[in-house]
Amino acid sequence: MNQPLILIIEDEESLRRFLVPTLISQHYQVLCAATATEGLALARSHNPDLVLLDLGLPDRDGMTVLKELRTWSRKPVLILSARNQERDKVRALDQGADDYLAKPFGAGELLARIRVALRHTHLLDVPEPVLEGGALRIDLAGREVSREGRAIKLTALEYRLLEALARRNGKVATHRQLLADVWGPGGEGNTHYLRIYMAMLRKKLEADPTRPRHFITEPNVGYRLNLEAPRD
Ligand code: CA
Repeated sequence: MNQPLILIIEDEESLRRFLVPTLISQHYQVLCAATATEGLALARSHNPDLVLLDLGLPDRDGMTVLKELRTWSRKPVLILSARNQERDKVRALDQGADDYLAKPFGAGELLARIRVALRHTHLLDVPEPVLEGGALRIDLAGREVSREGRAIKLTALEYRLLEALARRNGKVATHRQLLADVWGPGGEGNTHYLRIYMAMLRKKLEADPTRPRHFITEPNVGYRLNLEAPRD
């Protein structure tokens, strides 16, 4: 089987010098572009399995690259964002990017995000009915949740929030996406609902709710459900 092809669209040469060998060491195939124009041309000619996209590119905004990609491709796009691009990053996620990496990031974090994003591609074809990790078991088909083998009772809203996170299977979900999924159009802007219900989920499903392992806060962005083994 062919190894997944990853397209890097990033103008910072030092970052490309870190990304390319890191990805090749994991047997990914790699293509590089330093501008938006070059990146879009390579995306069209090679149809990569995943795109690493910098938002601050010299010729055009990374956001326009994302928009154009999304007109013809559903392949995962991971945003590479600098610290001062907080708002752009959230906008990119709401516009169809799959996840993000905040610079600077390490090799472990990069590879974990890529694994999750590529796994998700396959899940679109065959939805996983049961998700398991740590002591948690989430049966989306049977609508049952258990921790350490014991069934946990969730309210309807708690379950909908858990399901909205679980459907993204390790990828970040923005506040706006979660509010729309759980509360519908009326929920927009009510980020405090999320804080309240996330606290309830953590209380019921985390071993130590004050140090959550599964229900991860992504500051100013949203939340992610992490069912992978903890990394050190
Ligand atoms: Ca840049």
